Amino acid sequence: MTFHDFNFDEQVLEGILSMGFKQPTPIQEMAIPVIMGGEDLIACAQTGTGKTGAFLLPILDQIAKSHEHHTTVLILTPTRELAQQIDQQVEGLAYFAGISSLAVFGGGDGIVYEQQRRGIQNNVNIIIATPGRLIAHLTSGILKLNQIKHLVLDEADRMLDMGFYDDIMRIISYLPKKRQTLLFSATMPPRIRTLAKSVLHNPQQINIAISQPAVGIDQQVYQVADQQKTPLVKLLLKNGNYNSIIIFSSTKEKVKAVYKELKKDFKIAAFHSDLEQTEREDILRDFKNKSLPIIIGTDALSRGIDVEGIDLVLNYDVPPDPEDYIHRIGRTARAATTGTAITLVNERDFRRFKSIEKLIDRTIDQKPLPEELGEAPVFKERTGGRDNRRKKNFKKKGPNKQHTPNKPASKP
Ligand code: AMP
Repeated sequence: MTFHDFNFDEQVLEGILSMGFKQPTPIQEMAIPVIMGGEDLIACAQTGTGKTGAFLLPILDQIAKSHEHHTTVLILTPTRELAQQIDQQVEGLAYFAGISSLAVFGGGDGIVYEQQRRGIQNNVNIIIATPGRLIAHLTSGILKLNQIKHLVLDEADRMLDMGFYDDIMRIISYLPKKRQTLLFSATMPPRIRTLAKSVLHNPQQINIAISQPAVGIDQQVYQVADQQKTPLVKLLLKNGNYNSIIIFSSTKEKVKAVYKELKKDFKIAAFHSDLEQTEREDILRDFKNKSLPIIIGTDALSRGIDVEGIDLVLNYDVPPDPEDYIHRIGRTARAATTGTAITLVNERDFRRFKSIEKLIDRTIDQKPLPEELGEAPVFKERTGGRDNRRKKNFKKKGPNKQHTPNKPASKP
């Protein structure tokens, strides 16, 4: 299949070619005809599959063919970075078709707010927004959404994780009932199905199975005690021949603590939600143009950040959700290059790590700890899990018969 098969508007086609897209990706092949047919869609697809093009291209085609000059498309995203990336894709794909878009997101100063306000008044074709800031413009009365024909909920699972359910429903209450709604999500937990039921109408469904990590990624694991983690990271950064590195940790607090240690020896920036928007933008810009070699952040960084040439992803800890492992390490070895993904596993994370190996259906190469860091701990997979542990404790201590009424029995 080629992009010519969709009968896209000539200028949209030109945009596609200028972006270097030669062939539609599987999600594009499946989603574009459904969207062009005017149906609602629920699509399970993650970043890296070409999902943005899958919803943008048929929408751009429709705008180009109808010559509309007001806001008919609303795309809701969980983060400002994703909003900006989608905006950039519109800019590239719609360059020849002359379709306008505006990214609307929170943070920034009064000037940014004013720019957004002016953009809204200029009747751009497409608004790409994070829910909170969009509501601010809606309630100020400046933004009217009564001509929206297409609503896209992008990374819907992440929006719900971030607590945007009520905001999304509030925004939808401003939209015309007759519209096309497209929901994209990397995972499909029951609450996404509930959301879909209340906002989509007879949707078609598309499932792109979670992709396996790219073959070009050299995956490695070190078993470590907690106090060995930071010294090991320092050694890996010093001795490895890496130029562009992302370090992931599961919590903001951990990101800050590890950053404090590493910044003594390395040029590094920490990326988290406490930063001002301009600081986040500066960090990403420096990281993209390679003047900043190392960035440390939480899983928020693992989605949507599309940076070429990252040669090491270092997991300071194991992500809670095995699918996040694939998102994290997918930041390297993009576009058929190669890269390394190293994961540090302590005893507490060992079971989580085994779930990852199950998900990707392979054993990850375990590396010996460098001698100067001392002995590597050895972890064994527990058989029987929690229940087995409970039974053992019960035997040792005996049943907890004598707990006082208001005090819960201590957990095993
Ligand atoms: P996404 O999954 O939307 O985040 O897209 C991931 C990357 O793939 C982006 O850099 C897109 O520009 C690129 N991309 C999207 N569609 C195609 C295509 N058909 N051919 C080549 N690259 C593409």
